[in-house]
Amino acid sequence: MLLLACGGGLVAAARAATDAAPAIALFNDSHFHLTNYVQNGPEAQQFLRMVGPKVGRVAMFGIPLQQEWSHDVSGDFAPTYYLQSDAPLYYYSFTDAHIALAYRSLSKADQARIDPMITGFNPADMYAADHIRRVLEDFPDVFSGIGEFSIHKEFVSGKIAGGAPSLLNPALDRILDFAGEVGLVVLIHNDIDVPFAKATDRPTYLADLEAVFKRHPRTTIIWAHLGLGRVVRPVEQQGEIVSRLLDDPQLAHLNFDISWNEVAKYLYRDADTPRTIARVAAVINRHSDRFLFGTDEVAPTTAKQYYSLYEQYAPLWAALTPEAREKTLKGNYARLFDAARGRVRAWEHSHRLSAPTP
Ligand SMILES: [Zn+2]
Repeated sequence: MLLLACGGGLVAAARAATDAAPAIALFNDSHFHLTNYVQNGPEAQQFLRMVGPKVGRVAMFGIPLQQEWSHDVSGDFAPTYYLQSDAPLYYYSFTDAHIALAYRSLSKADQARIDPMITGFNPADMYAADHIRRVLEDFPDVFSGIGEFSIHKEFVSGKIAGGAPSLLNPALDRILDFAGEVGLVVLIHNDIDVPFAKATDRPTYLADLEAVFKRHPRTTIIWAHLGLGRVVRPVEQQGEIVSRLLDDPQLAHLNFDISWNEVAKYLYRDADTPRTIARVAAVINRHSDRFLFGTDEVAPTTAKQYYSLYEQYAPLWAALTPEAREKTLKGNYARLFDAARGRVRAWEHSHRLSAPTP
């Protein structure tokens, strides 16, 4: 209702745009899961056919965690999401081979649209960086980055068999060091705060996360979802914190994605939506090089579902300068992922790694 009141016309216009077959893509998607928490999802070809040419480039990855179906816990009910069972989650490294083979199954023209990402590693394991290297060695000429991988994630981190990762764990530094050496873009999920935190408190994870980012100035990092989540709400000074980080010269390698409908909802959560949209737009307009749109869709089954977040953000797109809109929707993606592709291929080449000729 509020969404319609504030941006109904704009949303309708966005919906019309996604229905029509525009000459050029509406956006590049910096955050897309081809498979879900039980590793199911469409074929890459099927996905591209479903979404058509309205999306340009797509950063495509799986989900590093498998939701266990424990008959002891849920009997014949087969959970497909982490909120559907108390049975644990465990790391599922085969997702990287699945994504690499999905990419290789595409035509050259379709491969040019896709940036596959490595995500099947345990970020608490000092050997995780070795897994990333092994995937590049086994599947050269495929990957552009790592992630989305999670450190602190509401409802998830506490369910992981073997224990939760931490910002204080040197395994994370080994991962970010290696990514910086190779040129892999890093997409990291880390909640800025704990669930249901008082909005006035200092965000629980901010200081440690900022320290991690500052320890890896050579690594291109995208912080997913502005650190927000289903119940991890924006803190009081969210805009000021984001601006402070972006103004910090030691964090010139830090970017944000605004993916996930659980994030977009915060634009519309109170009667002061126009002011909230204006505040968010002001931050993006001022730092137009540092924000990327992403859907965070997981194994979508319809184009309507896939494009829904782009539509939901219509009032925000309208509040951005043309330059900031173009960069947030497409330009920043192209700049970061083109640079990554070039550097990762060069690293592979310098390590005599190349894809087998068909
Ligand atoms: Zn995600």
